[in-house]
Amino acid sequence: MDAPTSIKPAFDYPIGADPAMPKQAINPAMRDGLPEDLPSKQVLVSPWRMLRSGVIQRLAPRSIAASAMRVATSRKPVVLIYHDVPSVADNHSVDLRTFESHITFMKRHFDFITPQQLNERRPTLSRIRVLLTFDDGFRNQFELAKRVLLNHSVPALFFISSRHSSPGAYLWFAYERMLAGHFQGEGFSFRGMYFSMRPEHSVESMGRLRSILLDLKPHPSAMYRAIEQELPSVNEMIDRKMVTDRYQGMSADEVTDLAREPQFAIGCHTVDHPLLTRCTHQEAYRQIADNRVWLERVSNRKCATIAYPGGDYNAQIINLCRDLALSDGFAEIPKLRSIPQFEVPRIGVYSASVFFLGCKVSWGNLLRRTSLPFG
Ligand SMILES: [Zn+2]
Repeated sequence: MDAPTSIKPAFDYPIGADPAMPKQAINPAMRDGLPEDLPSKQVLVSPWRMLRSGVIQRLAPRSIAASAMRVATSRKPVVLIYHDVPSVADNHSVDLRTFESHITFMKRHFDFITPQQLNERRPTLSRIRVLLTFDDGFRNQFELAKRVLLNHSVPALFFISSRHSSPGAYLWFAYERMLAGHFQGEGFSFRGMYFSMRPEHSVESMGRLRSILLDLKPHPSAMYRAIEQELPSVNEMIDRKMVTDRYQGMSADEVTDLAREPQFAIGCHTVDHPLLTRCTHQEAYRQIADNRVWLERVSNRKCATIAYPGGDYNAQIINLCRDLALSDGFAEIPKLRSIPQFEVPRIGVYSASVFFLGCKVSWGNLLRRTSLPFG
C-alpha cells in the first residue's frame, strides 16, 4: 500500500463541534466532557489575579471533580484494546485520524504505562493509568498506528497472529468482513446451502455462515480449508489497495521493525486466531507454541504474554499457558476469576467518541467487575 505522506493533524474539538471554530472559542470545561487538570501556565499567574479574573472559581469545581473521580475509580491500570487502524475505517475499527484524536485526548487526561508497570497501583490522587494493547497484528497497526505512537511517545503491547504475515493469507474473521463488505453478486452456495447477499439478508447470511464455519471440525483447519477451497475468492471482489489497508497482516520484516522500538512489546495471539476452547489440547498447544516461536524469532525478543483470541479461554487454556511458561494472559471479560494474572481484563475501543473513551478509561475496570458484556 502507498503510505500516506503525512499523518493528518489531531483535531482538538468535541465531537459534533464545528472544526472551523477557533480553538480559543471553545469552553475548555466542555471540551471533552471530562474535568481537566490545572493548566501549568495558569499556575504561574498570581493567585490574586486569578481570583479577580474568576479563573479559580471556574477551575476549582473541575479540579475537585477530577480528584473525586480518581478516588472513586480503580487504582489498577486500565487496559484498552485497539484492533485494526486503517486509513479508512469500516464498522469494526477506528481510522487513523480518530486514533490520533484518542491518543491526544488520553495524553491530556491520563498517564500511559508500559506492560512492565501493569501490576503497579497508582497513588489515590494521581491520574488514571492506561496500557494500550493492539490485537491481531494487522499491517495498518505497523504502517499507521505505529507512527502516531512514536510521535507521541506512547508505549504499547502488540498481540500478533502469524497466519496473515504471508501475502494472500487472512485471518478467518478478516475474510468474513471482506465477504460481507465487498461481495458483488446476489449470493453464493456453500455445501448445498444458499447464502443471499442482498442487503436485507446479508446480516443473517453472514451470521449463519460464521456459525457453520466455527462448528467445522477439526477447528480451525477445516474452517480455513473451506474458506480457501469452497467459498468465494477475495481476489475477485476487492482491490489490492483496500486489502492492504484493512485486512492484511504484518509481514515478518514489519514485526522485526516494530520490535526494534523500545517502547513497544510483542505478545502471542496464536498462529491462526482460533477460538482456543474449540481446539483439541494438542492443537491449542501448537497454536500458542508455534506463534511464540515465530514471534521470538522475527522480533528477537522474549514474548511471554498472550491475548486469548476473541477473549475465549477456560481453565485448560490457562493451564496450557502456564505450562508454556507464559507470564500473563490478557482476556476481555474475566470468566473464571481464578488466577488474575491470566485473566487481565481489557476494554475494547470501537467508537470515535472521546466521551465514550473517557468513560471506558474512567470506569472500565469497575464495570469489568460486573461481568456485563460491554465493549
Ligand atoms: Zn484477535
